[in-house]
Amino acid sequence: MTQTGKRTKLVHHGARRSQYAEVAEAIYLTQGFVYPSAEAAEARFLEAGADEFIYARYGNPTVAAFEDRIAALEGTEDAFATASGMAAVSGALTSLLRAGDHVVSSRALFGSCLYVLEEVLSRYGVAVSFVDGTDLAQWRAAIRPDTKVVFLETVSNPTLEVIDLKSVTDLAHAAGALVVVDNVFATPVFSRAASLGADVIVYSATKHIDGQGRCLGGVVCGTRDFIRGTLEPYMKHTGGALSPFNAWVMLNGLTTLDLRVRAQAASAQAIAEALQGDARLARVIYPGLPGHPQHKLAQAQMDGFGTVLALDLAAGKEAAFRFLNALKVIVISNNLGDARSIATHPATTTHQRLPDDQKIALGITPGLIRLSVGLEDAADLVADIRAALDMI
Ligand SMILES: *Cc1c(COP(=O)(O)O)cnc(C)c1O
Repeated sequence: MTQTGKRTKLVHHGARRSQYAEVAEAIYLTQGFVYPSAEAAEARFLEAGADEFIYARYGNPTVAAFEDRIAALEGTEDAFATASGMAAVSGALTSLLRAGDHVVSSRALFGSCLYVLEEVLSRYGVAVSFVDGTDLAQWRAAIRPDTKVVFLETVSNPTLEVIDLKSVTDLAHAAGALVVVDNVFATPVFSRAASLGADVIVYSATKHIDGQGRCLGGVVCGTRDFIRGTLEPYMKHTGGALSPFNAWVMLNGLTTLDLRVRAQAASAQAIAEALQGDARLARVIYPGLPGHPQHKLAQAQMDGFGTVLALDLAAGKEAAFRFLNALKVIVISNNLGDARSIATHPATTTHQRLPDDQKIALGITPGLIRLSVGLEDAADLVADIRAALDMI
């Protein structure tokens, strides 16, 4: 079968059928595998062949199907699935780095990514320089000959700044550094990260890939050399493997990923346009709005603008809380990419740990609400938001 289109790959790629020729993917919910002989066990430990498994911490048929499907989608040679998005981020970084190395990272990061870069890596002798990701001059000044890794979120959380991936990658590669991107907000559907030069592309599968808020998971995409030579040995011995059950949920999530993400992005665009200009909102932030500072860049480096927007309520925290408490359709939570629309107050939840001056520097104001747009009717979501704004 020729699988050229993304949707075809998302439905079929990587499926492993048993002797029963089942239609839906089987769940191989097993930690281990039986060898036909002692000699076969010895041979497999020496070198496992294609689709030969040893132990689920190393690999499993259901997990391998998920890895193959996501690599085909992302356009990388291979992928390794992990227990969560953070296992993917920390595994990608720690497998590449050692004491004495230098990392340059954008400052606007998901809280746990910031923890890994700021608190964990420094304990093991890795120096990290933080830059304003939207300022190429800062990247240029910070990347040095001993820089081993450049890390960034292509679209930042929660303020949706878009980083010029091609330019940063060119600077990094000129210095011999590898580029690791956390691509959650771009989603694998809209991502062009591989063709723009990113070496390692990381997703939290907990978000759009599951898409229904059930399981934790993550995945690291890259060259076969990196995935099997550098990452896999590290991951399989440190224990961040994805459960086969969760891999099965994620495989089913992938089947509808393209349809869901495009529908959610279309609603996000409609909501952003409907709310733009509302006097109660200091800012409506969505890369799909022509007024977004990196609108043109977002258009050039992604196939869509994403499923998340941010609203900045001019009247501050109390107004933001009244707004959240008045929502009837949209739920208050902190996941994103879910079929259900979710509103988050970053300053008091996901980014609570940040000192106030850093929150301000990152645009995480007391009135900022992050809105992950789900699969409900866009008109219902706009009505819910307008009614809640009337309550502030
Ligand atoms: C959620 C998220 C993560 C972490 O993923 P988990 O699956 O929760 O571990 C990392 N980076 C970004 C940008 C995220 O949104």
